[in-house]
Amino acid sequence: MQRERMTYDVVIVGAGPAGLAAAIRLKQLASQASRDVSVCVVEKGSEVGAHILSGAVFEPRALGELFPDWRQRGAPLTTPAAKDRFLLLTARGALRLPVPPQMRNRGNYIISLGNLCRWLGKEAEALGVEIYPGFAAAEILYDEGGRVAGVATGAMGVGKDGKETANFQPGAELRARETLFAEGCRGSLTKLLEARFDLRRDCDPQSYGLGIKELWEIDPAKHRAGLAVHTIGWPLDHRTYGGSFLYHFDKNLLAAGFVVGLDYANPYLSPFEEFQRFKTHRAIRGLFEGGKRIAYGARALNEGGFQSIPALAFPGGLVIGDAAGFLNAPKLKGSHTAMKSGMVAAETVFKRLAGDAKADYRSALEASWVWPELYAARNIRPAFRCGLWAGLAHAAFDTYILRGRAPWTLRQSADFEHLERAIRAKPIAYPKPDGKITFDRLSSVFLSGVSHEENQPPHLRLRNPDAAIAVNYALYAAPETRYCPAGVYEILTDPAGRPRLQINAANCVHCKSCDIKDPTQNIDWTVPEGGGGPNYPNM
Ligand SMILES: Cc1cc2nc3c(=O)[nH]c(=O)nc-3n(C[C@H](O)[C@H](O)[C@H](O)COP(=O)(O)OP(=O)(O)OC[C@H]3O[C@@H](n4cnc5c(N)ncnc54)[C@H](O)[C@@H]3O)c2cc1C
Ligand code: SF4
Repeated sequence: MQRERMTYDVVIVGAGPAGLAAAIRLKQLASQASRDVSVCVVEKGSEVGAHILSGAVFEPRALGELFPDWRQRGAPLTTPAAKDRFLLLTARGALRLPVPPQMRNRGNYIISLGNLCRWLGKEAEALGVEIYPGFAAAEILYDEGGRVAGVATGAMGVGKDGKETANFQPGAELRARETLFAEGCRGSLTKLLEARFDLRRDCDPQSYGLGIKELWEIDPAKHRAGLAVHTIGWPLDHRTYGGSFLYHFDKNLLAAGFVVGLDYANPYLSPFEEFQRFKTHRAIRGLFEGGKRIAYGARALNEGGFQSIPALAFPGGLVIGDAAGFLNAPKLKGSHTAMKSGMVAAETVFKRLAGDAKADYRSALEASWVWPELYAARNIRPAFRCGLWAGLAHAAFDTYILRGRAPWTLRQSADFEHLERAIRAKPIAYPKPDGKITFDRLSSVFLSGVSHEENQPPHLRLRNPDAAIAVNYALYAAPETRYCPAGVYEILTDPAGRPRLQINAANCVHCKSCDIKDPTQNIDWTVPEGGGGPNYPNM
């Protein structure tokens, strides 16, 4: 069966804030210039928003530039951020710290980013953008000269054995003059592009955090709409970067989340269990008592910042949003920069389509507010590699005295290189879940609404299958069984009593942590059949 071929001016991979803002801006520019520009967006989630997981306190700056009348249009920004709190937790207590300027949220909104994307998707369609949810871009297409010429969506109905089933449907070729990659953090095609065009040649390695989030309906008496709380410290040790967020928004909802820097050293650490333990702190626990957990999910986020931004352009297209790494880690915000980068990319591509070959995305981005914002924040996250106290002291000095203008730039390194061998690490005993405030992984994954076609080739691929036991298990005590927030990886024993790695790929919530943290970079996350994965409501 032949693949269907469709041709557009611009194809965008990923319907997150970056991809949708780019699509909308292109159509706005086309309409202003009375030109016709065809734009198509492919999204691997079953619907726009299904795979979006964020905090989220949203800074509406880019949205205001895209739609100055977003209020009248009914954008789902209904809870203004009213108050910030920043706590340092110790095992027994909580110390209130001054809220650093980058974490002050006056003028921002507490939202569901998934719902904002659903709304942006409708606005984009109203402008004529074609959006195809349920289709994963699985392959990059190149022309004879090696220029990117679009993407192909994955075939449906291929069995576990790689053979076509009765439901087989070939993928479609989406050919384009320009292709924008908006896959979010650790995009699977973006990773291939980076290798093919050597895009990371002149930058530091990207570094990441894993964010795990639960949505709770809490006791109305404890709900303070607009309150945003961040904590650092316990239960993490001082060598491990991370902390929590607690955002009170609409209708007694609480977005509770925990982020752990994936540069952690101890292979026994489990970000999921750290989050569960965090909820039991005496200053936190009460918030959850009497409440009900209604959703769960996880997603990696970029923490590398300014010094980890790769080359952004390649023949035939651009990288935008978190796929390029525009998240401001000290702010824990990336959706505003993702949207702005998408808009700047759209402006560049629009000029290029009109024949202006000199239109340059990077220099336009450097001239925008994204660049100075990320530049000023660049040293805060890497300083925490020296531990919590040194990181806090440096953050205060950098923020209040140097104001982000230090004459030095601290370097980033790859997270997987920081994992210690198990023999040097201390095992961590985590408490059992109580089923009320703390939970196990499997019941959590159930709340992510994850579903995948069972009969399909594994989308988690081991480059060297033997390394799972010979390296990961033998030297690092199988860290993937702990960092995976969905319990995908398990060590079982075969009939001869030997350990073997079991991969429950159907549970995968597409967080991408295994692709990032595996100590020998042996795991490749690839797209499963389109429409598979989590189905997040209000995340
Ligand atoms: C726990 C957590 C808390 C956060 N808190 C905040 C916050 O409070 N405020 C804030 O501003 N930011 C926050 N962020 C960051 C913010 O969510 C991101 O910066 C933002 O979502 C990036 O937008 P994006 O469009 O680049 O990527 P994404 O939002 O990740 O969207 C990418 C989209 O592309 C799709 N996709 C990926 N690959 C393919 C493919 N091959 N084919 C088809 N579709 C594909 C995905 O399914 C997804 O829908 C947080 C992030 C996390 C993880
Ligand atoms: S298998 Fe990998 S990408 Fe999927 S949930 Fe686990 S760590 Fe995340």
